[in-house]
Amino acid sequence: MEHPLQAWRDTLRELGVVGLVREPRLEPAAPQAAPQPVHRVVPEAPLPPAVPKAYAPPTGPVACPPAAAVQAAATLADLQRAIEGCLACPLGPGRMKFVFGEGDPAARLLFVGEGPGRDEDLQGRPFVGKAGELLDKMIGALGFSRETTYIANIVKCRPPDNRTPTPEEAHTCLGYLHRQIELIRPDVIVTLGATPLRELAGITEGITKLRGQWQRIQVGGREIPVMPTFHPAYVLRQYTQDVRRAVWQDLQAAKEWLDRPAGS
Ligand code: SF4
Repeated sequence: MEHPLQAWRDTLRELGVVGLVREPRLEPAAPQAAPQPVHRVVPEAPLPPAVPKAYAPPTGPVACPPAAAVQAAATLADLQRAIEGCLACPLGPGRMKFVFGEGDPAARLLFVGEGPGRDEDLQGRPFVGKAGELLDKMIGALGFSRETTYIANIVKCRPPDNRTPTPEEAHTCLGYLHRQIELIRPDVIVTLGATPLRELAGITEGITKLRGQWQRIQVGGREIPVMPTFHPAYVLRQYTQDVRRAVWQDLQAAKEWLDRPAGS
């Protein structure tokens, strides 16, 4: 039978502790109790240096671009310039990089996710982590690419610990996405997960129930069909054939809508 000390040592090894150093036993001073041995944990490798934060807290009034400047933006580049210093909601001060969105400025197919995660915050680009790799594969399987579609999020700054943006944060940021949609004029929007469906279409029912069912939104005087599907991060967590098949069906429905003959 394995000795309990052996099991303890194996557990420490799994946690990365490669050795224990026993302090030399001190000669006990006369009437005091004998000192107990002290174990010092030796880390396997030095910790990486902390990543410096690029953001410096504002010293003046909180910056929020006037709505007129957002509406006046005639191109996506104009819009990005107008809003990339935004500190209008509590997410702004915590961001490393502003994640505006990227892709074809005249894309027919627009993907909308929830908000930047850690990798996106570091790189300033949407969907660049593991979930992004999966999204790229799905887009590629449809016959598109990042360059021929557009990818954006409901909020443009990372929520701490990747939590869901609060309704207040989402509402504060939504005007920017609406202006993006007005400028891109996509024929179809695919929402990824529950948050973009809730914020864009005002639908609070669960994504499991609503995925695959066409919805419609009005932006800039245009009605745009919306196909709700699961977020790629959810697909990675629930990597079952059923979930993957469901997402694939939803994406194919979006593609079929784009491919339908004009006027039908
Ligand atoms: S999340 Fe949106 S509203 Fe909030 S600070 Fe960032 S850009 Fe501004």
